[in-house]
Amino acid sequence: MNKRLIRETSTFFKEKFNQASSYHILSPGRINLIGEHIDYNDGSVLLGTIDKIVCFAISKSNTDVSSIIAKDLGERLSFRLHDNSPKEKDGWIGYFYGVLDELKKRTLRIENFNLVFSSNIPMGSGLSSSAALECGFGFALNVLFDLKLTKLEIVKIGQQAENNFAGVKCGIMDQFANIFGQKNHILKLNCHTLETEYHRLQLDEYSLVLLNSGVKHTLLDSSYNNRREECAQGLAAIKKHFPQVNTFRNCTENQLYQIENELEKTIFKRCLYVIQEINRVPQAFDALKKRDYDKLGKLLYKSHKGLNELYEVSCSELNFLVAHTFDESGVLGARMMGGGFGGCTINLIRKDCETAFKTKIKIAYEKEFNIPLHSYQVNLSNGTSCIQVEQIATSS
Ligand code: ADP
Ligand code: MG
Repeated sequence: MNKRLIRETSTFFKEKFNQASSYHILSPGRINLIGEHIDYNDGSVLLGTIDKIVCFAISKSNTDVSSIIAKDLGERLSFRLHDNSPKEKDGWIGYFYGVLDELKKRTLRIENFNLVFSSNIPMGSGLSSSAALECGFGFALNVLFDLKLTKLEIVKIGQQAENNFAGVKCGIMDQFANIFGQKNHILKLNCHTLETEYHRLQLDEYSLVLLNSGVKHTLLDSSYNNRREECAQGLAAIKKHFPQVNTFRNCTENQLYQIENELEKTIFKRCLYVIQEINRVPQAFDALKKRDYDKLGKLLYKSHKGLNELYEVSCSELNFLVAHTFDESGVLGARMMGGGFGGCTINLIRKDCETAFKTKIKIAYEKEFNIPLHSYQVNLSNGTSCIQVEQIATSS
């Protein structure tokens, strides 16, 4: 599937720009097994990059104009690199200008370029197509202009592009996963110290399946920023009473309960969720290593319950998908994944039940919401990489 995407992106580039593309960059979507909304609260998260990608074809331009074509949308942006007029921030264009802006802040000089991108990561589904755009673009410019950026700098440029241009105050996990993901591995990222640990994923008779609710309620961006704000308020109140607490990582539920009466109910709920989710992640990682899938599944369900009832970022479609797994003996756990208010659920399911389960839940979901339900198998693949033109013929 990706082979075709790469070939079509490359051919399209040639047709539009009358030159061959110099580099092809493959930038994947990501999953987060557990640890939701805690990357910006100093927690750890369990990430993986998947075999759905944005493909970029790029070359230097021999004119004084740069062009970017969003092939899937049939849209084109042409601009002069050093033009200082205000830049559009909406939609995909914002991510690209955001990255260019971050390079400018770092006084990194680039020249004009031509670029085409095309993707099979479903947009707005919690698989982080936005981080794939930002980091893939940063990576492409780094290769094309030999900017000598480290991988971590590309991650930060991507995150800051999303924070400053797209206006979503996201943490670091999506961009980190995009760049540092490894085939067949789950990456445990400590978002406080940026320490990492890779674990080769072996699920034996189980697999991970994503169910795409097909909805994206528009609340997401503003609610995301609200949640950040609420957590910051909560942590400030906790610190006042317990000066030794410098992050949610070393705050206990007990400490939070001691000041429950002094916190607004909403703030209390947000903090409780964060503390509990931070504690679930090491348990889940341990369960993965011990191949204790029952335990892992239970933690996924608890995570969803917290996201729904305490953090309040779920929605009826996601709750329906998770609730429909309760009576399925082959499903050990499920939860909403990503920012929330739509997107995918991630499900831990016994392989021999998968086909029947997917058929059953598809019928039920479509009957309830009249929205097509798509499912994807999780195959963990490498983070963003550059592929040689000669490799295109052999890429999978
Ligand atoms: P997610 O990152 O979960 O996919 P976001 O809302 O953060 O959701 O990012 C989705 C946005 O990224 C889209 O609205 C669009 O602006 C941009 N985008 C993603 N994929 C493409 C694509 N193939 N072509 C153009 N824009 C895209
Ligand atoms: Mg995103």
